[in-house]
Amino acid sequence: MTPTKVYEWHALDILDALEAQNSQAEGLNEDTARDRLAEYGPNSLPETRSTHPLLRFLEQFNNPLIYFLLAASVVTFLLDHAIDAAVILLVVLVNAVVGFVQEGRAETALQGMSSLISQHAIVLRDGEKRDIDVADLVPGDVVLIEAGDRVPADLRILRARGLAIEEAALTGESLAAEKQQEPASIAAPLGDRSSMAFSGMLVVRGQATGLVVNTGISTEIGKISGMLQQVPPLVTPLLQQINSFARLLTFVILGFGAALFAFAVLIRGFDPTEALIAVVAVAVGAIPEGLPAVITITLAIGVQRMASRRAVIRKLPAVESLGATSVICSDKTGTLTRNEMKVVRLITAEGEFGASGVGYAPEGTVMPMRGTLAGIDVPDALIRCGALCNDARLTQQDGQWSVAGDPMEGALLALAAKAETDTERLRGEWPRLDQIPFDASYRYMATLHRGPDEEHVVYIKGAPEAVLALCEETAQEIEWSGRVERAAAQGERLLGFAMLRLERPRERITHADLKNARMLGLMGFVDPPREEAKRAIAECRSAGIAIKMITGDHAATAVAIAGQLNLADNPQALTGTEIEALDDDELARRVEQVSVFARASPEHKLRIVRALQSHGHIVAMTGDGVNDAPSLKQADVGTAMGVAGTEAAREASEMVLLDDNFASIVAAVREGRTVYDNIRKVIAWTLPTSGGEAVVIVLAILAGFALPMTATQILWINLVTTVTLGLVLAFEPPEPGVMERPPRRRDTPLLTPLLVWRVALVSALFAAVSLLIFFGAQSQGASVEKARTMVVNMLVVAEIAYLFNVRFLHMRSLTLRGALGTRPVLVALAIVIVAQIAFTYLPFLQLVFETESLTIGEGAIIIVIGFILLLLLEAEKRITRRYAM
Ligand code: ADP
Ligand code: MG
Repeated sequence: MTPTKVYEWHALDILDALEAQNSQAEGLNEDTARDRLAEYGPNSLPETRSTHPLLRFLEQFNNPLIYFLLAASVVTFLLDHAIDAAVILLVVLVNAVVGFVQEGRAETALQGMSSLISQHAIVLRDGEKRDIDVADLVPGDVVLIEAGDRVPADLRILRARGLAIEEAALTGESLAAEKQQEPASIAAPLGDRSSMAFSGMLVVRGQATGLVVNTGISTEIGKISGMLQQVPPLVTPLLQQINSFARLLTFVILGFGAALFAFAVLIRGFDPTEALIAVVAVAVGAIPEGLPAVITITLAIGVQRMASRRAVIRKLPAVESLGATSVICSDKTGTLTRNEMKVVRLITAEGEFGASGVGYAPEGTVMPMRGTLAGIDVPDALIRCGALCNDARLTQQDGQWSVAGDPMEGALLALAAKAETDTERLRGEWPRLDQIPFDASYRYMATLHRGPDEEHVVYIKGAPEAVLALCEETAQEIEWSGRVERAAAQGERLLGFAMLRLERPRERITHADLKNARMLGLMGFVDPPREEAKRAIAECRSAGIAIKMITGDHAATAVAIAGQLNLADNPQALTGTEIEALDDDELARRVEQVSVFARASPEHKLRIVRALQSHGHIVAMTGDGVNDAPSLKQADVGTAMGVAGTEAAREASEMVLLDDNFASIVAAVREGRTVYDNIRKVIAWTLPTSGGEAVVIVLAILAGFALPMTATQILWINLVTTVTLGLVLAFEPPEPGVMERPPRRRDTPLLTPLLVWRVALVSALFAAVSLLIFFGAQSQGASVEKARTMVVNMLVVAEIAYLFNVRFLHMRSLTLRGALGTRPVLVALAIVIVAQIAFTYLPFLQLVFETESLTIGEGAIIIVIGFILLLLLEAEKRITRRYAM
């Protein structure tokens, strides 16, 4: 029997709902789930189609430059220059195709990103908790949700604890709605269905189990779908800057072209047709039509490279900010450390015990330490507390033990096994009635149990101060805290344990019930630093990037770990309590010196980001919980954890780490710097190419000599070189030393004075060699056609020479690595050479472009000049590098 499809689920009693869904509170079994998945389909919404390809193609023509070119093509056609008209049309078409293909690639790259960070859900199957892909949920599944999750499907709530869900997308109500399990009135509108949790909505508080009643397009949000999944736009501030620069340049050039036309016809007495063609040539040559498209592809390639380093970009502008990042604020546990916990020390009122063993295997012993009497028993109550106030499970696969759940809790189970406590039996004897889950804001967890003798006991574990605050006999505190400090100074993470015997049986507990508990003791955990984090930190320090550790852990523990990681020369710490005593100005004054923020809560993170930003820093900040969302949003590069993070944190972030690893952030920063370098290289290469051509033609018109290149020849050069050589720069690997210079400042203009100088110089050089060849050839008796053929070849060779120069902005290009080039460089070179040979020797192209074959000697002269140009440019780089950058 399959479950009923349509129901007033919100008004149904829970047991009726379970029955109607043909399910049980322990969930479905895998077989049923598989059948239902086949029947109901995946729990996902159909992808919203992006713009129709044809529209996207036509969009390529929507740009003033293209209007101008199309108009020029029509005019030249009417003036009987059919070949010119055809070539112009061809250029427009090829440009549109290239732009279309590149944008498509960039879009697919970004779409691919979102599938990398697919959402997961915790579901009960065969009576066990499983972590599955949200798309695999079926009606009848029982799922667990908690603060920070997106509700994975439409759920009828089975049991809720302090549950509140934000449903603005569905109901328009911005206040979170309180939810509980009692049936709602049958007439309740969507916003009042308090027994339901709707797919896609954000859980802001509490936790619950719920029965999946609708999936995919049958959910409430599915019915109005289309608004949820949208392809992020491909514009970034940098791209905007470049687009408006290109537009401005276009208009300036058109205005200049009109003036030039008037000058040529009225003063130089040019034939209007010829003058028009010449002016079109200048404009076409000078306008960098391919620039925005090449830059888009550069960004897209950066995004793909970051993804291959386990850092997934959610918002494209982050690629730029990453390259300028000057401070990284990172969590400690799991990001800088391995999050492989082990209990090494137990502290009770009587003495101290040490625990041995490797990993989570149940092998090892618990023994009294030196200074503790050998006769004292292993503290059972302490170990029991650790095993019961615990949501983790240990599993064994191929002889390897691993944790399902929190690693620290896993370590407590391993410890229990070492002390010969059978956790499964213990949990059976002490059924859990209720719990207060751990939260970073109050830093403890409590569970209510009914013991074998019908006694009701609360077990508490948490940060030592937090637990001590719930205990009686505050006099003991002093003694405990001394021990805490000593163990923490070794880098141990400490947890306090307490128990509370309730006088009267109860089914529920609240924070208010937790007082006068009995302190059972402390445990110290080691969590080794990640080796790769240590290397990444060294890389950051050489790259002038400061690292701030922000942790909920004890200050002494955090400082000890910071020391092991070599986070700063002499790591200073500030605690949450101290932060609270400072106002924003005081915090801003101290924030740069401090590298460890301990016992810090999510609210402190927000203030820390703001304080850092007030110094002009570009801040990357990691986070995982719901409460981290504000600081992730505030940071320039909010970075969410892909494994341990909540959906809320991911959505507030610019970047998601697939492996929660600090080293991945640094890899992304490195790629971010590379992307920015490559964009500057693209610009530095494109502008002089256009500039050189324009200068030559303008000079010819002003001085009244024959044009050294025809309009169609200029179009040819631009066409052949931008889509090959220009694009190559988008693929450039990082230059050696990218992580050895300080971060770029936020306000650095794209066109630095040095870049402007280089563009002017190279434009002048290009013009000079063109004119040299043009007049040189003619003085040797060559025809104008032959001289022009040589000029075109000369310019292409010059562009190749300049490409090799520009590939390394920060170092010499005349190295083995520079000479060999990368595969894209070699492919592009091969294409350009073949194209130039065709242009020069193919009879058909000779007809179209009015070219003539060149001799070997003529070719050699061009190549020699190209080589001299390369040497000149290298010399220039060497000189300017001494003064600038
Ligand atoms: P971190 O920045 O190291 O991830 P957390 O905010 O997760 O720090 O934890 C802060 C403190 O809260 C820990 O030092 C520990 O004492 C306590 N704590 C962490 N996890 C738990 C848990 N599951 N149960 C009880 N206490 C916990
Ligand atoms: Mg944590």
